[in-house]
Amino acid sequence: MALYSEKVMDHFRNPRNVGIIEDADGIGEVGNAKCGDIMKMYLKIDDDTIGDVKFETFGCGSAIASSSMATELIKGQPVSEALKLTNKAVAEALDGLPEYKMHCSVLAEEAIKNALDDYYSKHPEKRKEHSDESGKL
Ligand SMILES: [Zn+2]
Repeated sequence: MALYSEKVMDHFRNPRNVGIIEDADGIGEVGNAKCGDIMKMYLKIDDDTIGDVKFETFGCGSAIASSSMATELIKGQPVSEALKLTNKAVAEALDGLPEYKMHCSVLAEEAIKNALDDYYSKHPEKRKEHSDESGKL
């Protein structure tokens, strides 16, 4: 049995939305010690929607595939939906990750949440509108 699904291999070889957004509205950077993955997520937010998203990931194949898939999942979605993205949803969209690589998909979730946190800290008036839905932010 192949260790990684076709989708993981596809997103690893041809990652979507790689790069940076110069005038990003929110930037999130996270890392994990386990495989030394570092992930940086840039969000452009238009009318409470993820207008554009780009990422830079220095890390293992699972981290690259997870960030690529995560950007695909949230692009064009309302911010409220992006806030609900879980690493489980990312892993499922990739047709699964090996158990010991699940922490790499957690990074993608955290990077997006950090970037949204950054956005809300710059636009505190927006935070109010979502406080009912997310509680945490
Ligand atoms: Zn990793």
